[in-house]
Amino acid sequence: MSQISKNIELIQQRITDATKKAKRNPEQIHLLAVSKTKPVEAIEEAYRFGIINFGENYLQEALQKQALLKPLSLTWHFIGPIQSNKTKDIAENFTWVHTVDRLKIAERLSRQRPLDLPPLQICLQVNISAEETKSGCLPDETIMLAKTISSLPNLELRGLMAIPQPTDDIRLQHEGFAKLRQLKETINEQLGLSMDTLSMGMSQDLEPAIIEGATWVRVGSAIFGERNYKV
Ligand SMILES: *Cc1c(COP(=O)(O)O)cnc(C)c1O
Repeated sequence: MSQISKNIELIQQRITDATKKAKRNPEQIHLLAVSKTKPVEAIEEAYRFGIINFGENYLQEALQKQALLKPLSLTWHFIGPIQSNKTKDIAENFTWVHTVDRLKIAERLSRQRPLDLPPLQICLQVNISAEETKSGCLPDETIMLAKTISSLPNLELRGLMAIPQPTDDIRLQHEGFAKLRQLKETINEQLGLSMDTLSMGMSQDLEPAIIEGATWVRVGSAIFGERNYKV
């Protein structure tokens, strides 16, 4: 068995164990394989072992891989920072975008989403630890943003995404994820929305994320191995 297939088995076991511990329905938890910086051969290998959802951070790299892998009908998720001059290609070539953090980007994605495709599936990225350097809207701004974005055509606002500040303290890991879940619940109540998605948890912290309600875990290095350059 290849290393990638062994890694996928290990991750699926970790997801299953966390799901049991959380007493959650396994159907609610989806695995997004983050393939940034990895070659198409690695994606093909993961696909052979049942993975169809792939996350990419860099548009040019993603478009090249999509062209080469077209026959596989994979589902592509954009999970990187978004500049306005990239929205057209993102709107045309992805099923999901996890990293919308301002209205201007959402408006452009909505306008540029081809009408023959289903609505683009959107998560708002929240800067849940309120770090100055990181992208994402502030928790306090999220409700207004959700309100406006939920009324745009051609987008479906599915939920919230966050990358909490990395920490080895398991209690702090839980705290960040729990904050995101509470924010989603508050927004649903106050706006009468039914967002069903929490995109949270990566290779190092998917267990606390699942226990706190993650519906997508975004896993890169634990499937494909360490990346050669940091992002
Ligand atoms: C790179 C990346 C991941 C995957 O991180 P790993 O630690 O390699 O699992 C998940 N989410 C986002 C937004 C990323 O940029």
